[in-house]
Amino acid sequence: MEEIIIIGAGPAGISMAVEAVNAGISTENILILEKAEEHSFTIKKYYPDNKLVTANFKGFTAACTGVMCLADSSKHETISYLDKSIEDHKLNVNYSETVYKIHQEKSEQKFVIYTDKNNYEAKVVVIAVGILGKPNKPEYKIPSSLNERVLFDVTSKEIKNSKVLVVGGGDSASEYCQFLSQLGNDVTISYRKPEFNRMNEINLESITTLSVQNKIEILLNSIITSVEDDNGKPKVNFLENESESFDFIVYALGGSTPENFLKLIGIEFDGPDPILKDGYETTIPGLFLTGDLSAGKKGGSIIWAFNSASAAMKKICTNYLDCKIE
Ligand SMILES: Cc1cc2nc3c(=O)[nH]c(=O)nc-3n(C[C@H](O)[C@H](O)[C@H](O)COP(=O)(O)OP(=O)(O)OC[C@H]3O[C@@H](n4cnc5c(N)ncnc54)[C@H](O)[C@@H]3O)c2cc1C
Repeated sequence: MEEIIIIGAGPAGISMAVEAVNAGISTENILILEKAEEHSFTIKKYYPDNKLVTANFKGFTAACTGVMCLADSSKHETISYLDKSIEDHKLNVNYSETVYKIHQEKSEQKFVIYTDKNNYEAKVVVIAVGILGKPNKPEYKIPSSLNERVLFDVTSKEIKNSKVLVVGGGDSASEYCQFLSQLGNDVTISYRKPEFNRMNEINLESITTLSVQNKIEILLNSIITSVEDDNGKPKVNFLENESESFDFIVYALGGSTPENFLKLIGIEFDGPDPILKDGYETTIPGLFLTGDLSAGKKGGSIIWAFNSASAAMKKICTNYLDCKIE
């Protein structure tokens, strides 16, 4: 039986394992299960390649309370830091292994973790699967014939010299516009609200400047009612503007808590959010949620993920395992 099993090898899962090693738990007794072929899948898939990874993302204070920390960096530097953390601490990560069920043995402090490849047992479980397993989709249906032209990230397909509509109003939407514009695309952004009130200052300033330079077009109060196939291209029907066809649509609508997965395990919810106690422990003793899953509706940041792991570790050492946080 492992001392601790961590589900998800993103910033929250990796820092959780690093915290555990630092608290004196042997690496042989720590296992990370990651469904993708590599760690930090969200960062690799959703961050544009030239993105500045900001330490104070979404306005979170850039102050680290645990072992791991991040300053403003490039995407490459961020991934290298996480790579190095796995290497330096000799962390055991099982890749391409998806956890689909966790069962708590009531008679003793033990969980059974079921994956598509194996079953494991652990005294403590930390779920750090993030919220982007399934990115949010629009309410209207997208014709399947447009699958190659309607995207939810900017890394799975190279988009160059094309007419692109970005849908969304947060930091990711702004970063996608900046990235796509630099690649010579003719970019329009559609946001349903009258102003961009969820973007940080840098991102807001960047798209405002691009708009003043006529490099992108901004559509505010822009409601899309449907998307249809116009000879292989997405034709967008707006509530108030005229319909328009694009080469590509990129949605940046964020993600959401994997509610069914967590509820099946038996974690109690208060409305849309899982109930979390001190140290991000769920209503099931010894079962923790860290990273984006612990950050509420607003979503988290990398430093939030690192700090949540440190808080969880303190509780784990106090209540469950033989370990010590300085
Ligand atoms: C476009 C974009 C830009 C961003 N920019 C910034 C920024 O500049 N600065 C910043 O601090 N933050 C930024 N963020 C937010 C930051 O990326 C997240 O807060 C952070 O990645 C959350 O870490 P996490 O470990 O909780 O989740 P994730 O990074 O999402 O990692 C979860 C991991 O769990 C794995 N997983 C999922 N389900 C399972 C399963 N059932 N079994 C096993 N493994 C599973 C996934 O494959 C993934 O590797 C950005 C986010 C996006 C989308």
